Amino acid sequence: MQEPEPRTPERPVPERFNSPEYQRVIAPGKAAAPCLIAPGAMALMRHAAEAAWPREACGLLIGRMGADGWQVSDARETANLNTERATDRFILDPVAYQQTDAELRGSGREIIGIWHSHPDCPARPSPTDLASAWEGFAYVIVSVYQARTADVACWALDDAGKQFQAVDIREGRA
Ligand SMILES: [Zn+2]
Repeated sequence: MQEPEPRTPERPVPERFNSPEYQRVIAPGKAAAPCLIAPGAMALMRHAAEAAWPREACGLLIGRMGADGWQVSDARETANLNTERATDRFILDPVAYQQTDAELRGSGREIIGIWHSHPDCPARPSPTDLASAWEGFAYVIVSVYQARTADVACWALDDAGKQFQAVDIREGRA
């Protein structure tokens, strides 16, 4: 994920993704711990991202996190409240967040991250994504070109909390 992706007619990479501003968002290397994603959660994100294209879809990642990484057992779609720039920005619904958080209390599971889609863009985080990122959270980005999932990547803030590091995705029971 660190190398600029090949520019193909099917998946053109917008110029801004190769700009210094965008390159600075990503730290070298990989996070030590992986992100395990249950097949159902992966399917929900892909389908929701494809259905929302060319707008951004977004939602919550639910599961457990610890020293051995993130375990996403469930993903939910929440409304993208950004209606003015829905093709390249998302605003997570804070009410849905609070409701889900309250619902999960005492269940042993919690909100451990956020997912969103990048319509016709790579699955790499933007400076805007970095500005709104929380430490300890997993950030899954679904790249959707022409309403089809092209790539799914996971990111988390590095120890300094100033850049994203790539997180390995594993699919399996979480
Ligand atoms: Zn983004």
